[in-house]
Amino acid sequence: MVRSLLMIPGPVEVDTGVLTAMAQPPLGHTSASFIEIFGACLDALRDVFRAPDGQPFVVAGSGTLAMEMAVANLIEPGDRAVVVDTGYFSHRMAGILARHGAVLESVSAPAGDCPSLERVESALKAGTKVLAITHVDTSTGVLAPVPDLAALARHYNALTVVDGVCALGGETFEMQAWDVDVCLTASQKALAVPPGLALVMAGPRAIQAFEARRRPAGSYYCDWGLWLPIMHAYQARKPSYFGTPPTSLIAALYESVKQILKEGMEARWARHRKLGASMRAAMQALGLKLVPARPDLYADTLTTIYYPDGVDDTLVGRIGQHGVAVAGGLHPDIKGRYFRVGHMGILCDAEIRQTVAAIEAALKDVGYLGEAGAGVTAAQAAYERPR
Ligand SMILES: *Cc1c(COP(=O)(O)O)cnc(C)c1O
Repeated sequence: MVRSLLMIPGPVEVDTGVLTAMAQPPLGHTSASFIEIFGACLDALRDVFRAPDGQPFVVAGSGTLAMEMAVANLIEPGDRAVVVDTGYFSHRMAGILARHGAVLESVSAPAGDCPSLERVESALKAGTKVLAITHVDTSTGVLAPVPDLAALARHYNALTVVDGVCALGGETFEMQAWDVDVCLTASQKALAVPPGLALVMAGPRAIQAFEARRRPAGSYYCDWGLWLPIMHAYQARKPSYFGTPPTSLIAALYESVKQILKEGMEARWARHRKLGASMRAAMQALGLKLVPARPDLYADTLTTIYYPDGVDDTLVGRIGQHGVAVAGGLHPDIKGRYFRVGHMGILCDAEIRQTVAAIEAALKDVGYLGEAGAGVTAAQAAYERPR
């Protein structure tokens, strides 16, 4: 079977070294080798999140579990929470908050936009425990202004929770410097590891808020009270057990984290800016319209593109026939009208060119383009432009 290049917003392409780490015979979770890998991985994650004073949690699960872990440990029934609603994953966060008993206010914007700081501020004025932000909403490709929103939350004494699942490791993010209290992600997005790990970084105020709870967390598996001794033990290079860690996936994560820190966060963010600019330039050169309403909302980890007039959502399958997997729409308001291209992790200009060429070929198949090539040329020119 021919495998397509994976350009969906997760899972993403994975480096051979990471795959090799994952393919080794599994280590016992209390073996000296695994203790060293997990301990060093937890330490290194602080550098990836830019959270020198953060407490990392890495558990088996997907990004949704990481979202629930953040909520279950911070929210008690009746606590107020404000959600900056930029799309599908903000809706999911609202659903998890409601399930844990939060009194919710969602500040929404039309698909492709982000609510204004003024509107978020007026929601915060009533007094709230948590402000939830999706850094990049994967349904719209909208990048939220996390530093500005987190500063507002700090001003009104709310904890900032950032869903960084489609951002962390690709978009610029400084957890401590931006005063973010919790940031969460999953292995299969910009960290470029196969799916299966939920990652949560909790800052000191979040841990204090957890310790001040009147009742235990409303989820047993997510309870920081049960996981903290485990994370502390591995960080101190000591054996411990609560739930069996997925040792092979953690070995893969550690390999990827080492590669990420070797590249350097600034260089990695800059490479993602080139990936984003290059994909957008190609789509615009083909006359296609992007979903985010303004350039300041453009994410660099994925591009969301409206189908041109006369082209429908069968285009995604046609692009697949040209060897590249992209994703269809997800936001309920515009679902059948656009497609999504993920570009995060280990990619460079070659994969962007291959993707744009497949999109052009599919657009030619459906009669939208007479001739292919303009997109690839624009992509390469934008990739090479210094920024
Ligand atoms: C993918 C994603 C999630 C959900 O992650 P799963 O691993 O699919 O559970 C949550 N938030 C954002 C922003 C995402 O991109």
